[in-house]
Amino acid sequence: MSNRLRDHGLQSERLLWPTKGPSHFEEELGVEEIEQALGITTLEKAVRWAQTRSMWPDTFGLACCAIEMMSIVGARYDIARFGMEAFRSSPRQADLLIVSGRVAHKMAAPIRQIYDQMLEPKWVIAMGACASSGGMFNNYAILQGVDRILPVDVYVPFCPPRPEALMEGIIRLHEAHLAGVPPAYERRQVAT
Ligand code: SF4
Repeated sequence: MSNRLRDHGLQSERLLWPTKGPSHFEEELGVEEIEQALGITTLEKAVRWAQTRSMWPDTFGLACCAIEMMSIVGARYDIARFGMEAFRSSPRQADLLIVSGRVAHKMAAPIRQIYDQMLEPKWVIAMGACASSGGMFNNYAILQGVDRILPVDVYVPFCPPRPEALMEGIIRLHEAHLAGVPPAYERRQVAT
């Protein structure tokens, strides 16, 4: 891994000077330490940080899992710590779709429409066994996993997942975004 700041996207006249050797800071510290010590970063990283601190979920619940999802805004779990307590009633103002519950075939088209109305970047969490795989409902009425109609970023297991499990999924999503992992729709192109 290079220890030159310009190789990590930091651009200034001095750093882009091709014949200029490493600066004093670059020689003494690694890039990560410089970022921490001096409070500098790249615009891309700053934008990603801001996006993870304002990832507003869509107001959307399907079944029993939704009750667990609702509790994350309460004082006990306090999702406001991540700037996420603002569940939006319009998909145009939401970044995160938490599919909480079993998806009936009749609901597939409305869910897809809601997802399509969300602006990019956007993320999807499949919450619970039913949303992830159909769960115990292996029958003609239930979609056997929401990833058949949407690109899913994070799967949260269990029936139902406790709010802590959903929070864990959200934190994993934040970590992936901060690390530069693109949303699922970019990695998978279109949902099958
Ligand atoms: S995973 Fe369990 S709690 Fe969640 S919707 Fe299915 S049956 Fe209900």
